[in-house]
Amino acid sequence: MSQRGARLVHVRDHGTRVLERPRSLSAREHELLLALIQHVRDTHEREALRCQADRAVVIEECAVSCGSVVLAMDDATCPHAEPGTGAPVTGEGEWEGARVEVILHLDRGSLHMIEIFRPDGGQTHGLPSPTALTYF
Ligand SMILES: [Zn+2]
Repeated sequence: MSQRGARLVHVRDHGTRVLERPRSLSAREHELLLALIQHVRDTHEREALRCQADRAVVIEECAVSCGSVVLAMDDATCPHAEPGTGAPVTGEGEWEGARVEVILHLDRGSLHMIEIFRPDGGQTHGLPSPTALTYF
């Protein structure tokens, strides 16, 4: 399944709900975000995203709690990531008995979304350990 197709599946099937107040990332969200960023190929893009990861907050969550989250930065101290668009890295692996894929989405130079889904269409209930995944 292409990354673009995966994103469309998620948006159509789940949607997100906007949090009344942005919240800090959970420990799992933060460790998985760092693991994804570590596998971004472009050095400058990777460094910018690493800076952003420590300042990111969650502003939206998946409406059915699959684990996908939409991120925003609470300040502008980090450089923009270049090219900073699309999905520069995907993690794939087995988690809780099913195949899962986790995609890091960027938007206009910034972290945008950690998306999780099951290729078989099943429901996930949170993000996997970073060590359960292989990164592409
Ligand atoms: Zn979802």
